[in-house]
Amino acid sequence: MSGRDADVLIVGGGIGGLALALSLHQAGVSCRVFESAPEVLPLGVGINLLPHAMRELSELGLAEALAAQCIETRELAFYSRHGQFIFKEPRGRYAGYDWPQLSIHRADLHKVLLDAVRARLGDDAVQLGHRCLKAEQDAHGVTLHFDRAEPHTGRLVVGCDGIHSAIRLQLYPDQGPPKYSGVNMWRGTVPWPAFLGGDTMVSTGWMTVGKTVIYPVRPAPPGGLPLINWVAELERPEAVRQDWTGRGKLSDIMPAFAGLKFDWLDISGMIESTGEILEYPMVDRDPLDRWTFGRVTLLGDAAHPMYPRGSNGAGQAIVDARFLTGQIKKLGATEEALKEYEKVRNPVTAKVVLTNRTDPPDSILREVWQRSKGERFARIEDVISTAELEAISDRYKKIAGFDRETLRTRPSFV
Ligand SMILES: Cc1cc2nc3c(=O)[nH]c(=O)nc-3n(C[C@H](O)[C@H](O)[C@H](O)COP(=O)(O)OP(=O)(O)OC[C@H]3O[C@@H](n4cnc5c(N)ncnc54)[C@H](O)[C@@H]3O)c2cc1C
Repeated sequence: MSGRDADVLIVGGGIGGLALALSLHQAGVSCRVFESAPEVLPLGVGINLLPHAMRELSELGLAEALAAQCIETRELAFYSRHGQFIFKEPRGRYAGYDWPQLSIHRADLHKVLLDAVRARLGDDAVQLGHRCLKAEQDAHGVTLHFDRAEPHTGRLVVGCDGIHSAIRLQLYPDQGPPKYSGVNMWRGTVPWPAFLGGDTMVSTGWMTVGKTVIYPVRPAPPGGLPLINWVAELERPEAVRQDWTGRGKLSDIMPAFAGLKFDWLDISGMIESTGEILEYPMVDRDPLDRWTFGRVTLLGDAAHPMYPRGSNGAGQAIVDARFLTGQIKKLGATEEALKEYEKVRNPVTAKVVLTNRTDPPDSILREVWQRSKGERFARIEDVISTAELEAISDRYKKIAGFDRETLRTRPSFV
């Protein structure tokens, strides 16, 4: 066994784990990341970073590197299944925030984080091919055990190992599988002509008959087309396999989305032109009362997996990382720091998990679908008032921690 490797051992080199490594380094706390994947592949599709996440990434000095890779989202717009306009609102800096909202490919976000970790902490800060099996602790420290590598020791362990977290399973051996929402998602990216100004995130329809979320994630290369990310969501009795790389088939969704074409976007044509379609079930877990057990805690999806209905999965993991770092900076690499982190972040994220089940921003589409019985409407005001639509959106911002005034005025976490 090596001696103490670092103060903080981070299990999982995904979005939350890498954000934590960068934050701890900024605060002068030593850390190492142990990632199960033997190599880093450009996996996943689009992700949105809202202003609360962008504040944290900006404080880490990553705003410029991210800006080169993404689309700054100007507007979020909702349309009915029939292409009728429902509601739109400006986003990020266009809505008066000090930080932007970015639409980005997960692989590009991951690469920016990983490059920064390697440049700032050194090439060996992230150990690939380290699948963690368990953490063992005593009064002096904590030891991580791996399937095919020597153990490593530190003062604290943070489980950032995603929705199938080994650390969480060790703490909650009887938790069972994640909970299926009754909705499956098919996702893809494809070079396609820009729509609605080239920087709008659009949500259409409803899950009963077919909902879509569509936004550009990479600007057009010279002479080319921007990369558009799309998600197609459908209610289904059975969950598809829970694997981020699981391949879906066009025939799984095409009956529902066939012929879906608006003046400004040929949605079915775009889906049909996509080379690789991924499938994933919408799943989460019930919130936990407790993440911290002595020297071990959980962060990001390992702590609070949530439905991707509010663009908040990556953002909440990043905010966890920053808040936890702030506590470690204040209280040292101690059990007390982990408890203080849990005390604040556990109830906040539990609310986001539960709200993503019932009233996330896309519940605007549910309300319109139910009230109009899925039919065309003459005027949206006859179905739902603008004030009610704004209230749905604003309520979510408060719950998820990105209402403009709170975000602007609160002190930095680190
Ligand atoms: C390959 C992949 C693709 C994804 N694609 C999308 C997407 O397209 N859209 C979207 O919204 N979300 C996607 N996600 C999930 C998204 O990244 C998270 O919901 C969110 O960013 C929260 O981040 P996290 O760090 O908590 O979890 P993740 O980003 O999922 O990171 C968890 C990390 O832990 C590693 N790990 C798991 N088990 C172990 C173990 N036992 N030992 C060591 N390491 C372990 C994983 O390999 C992974 O790198 C994807 C996740 C992964 C891993």
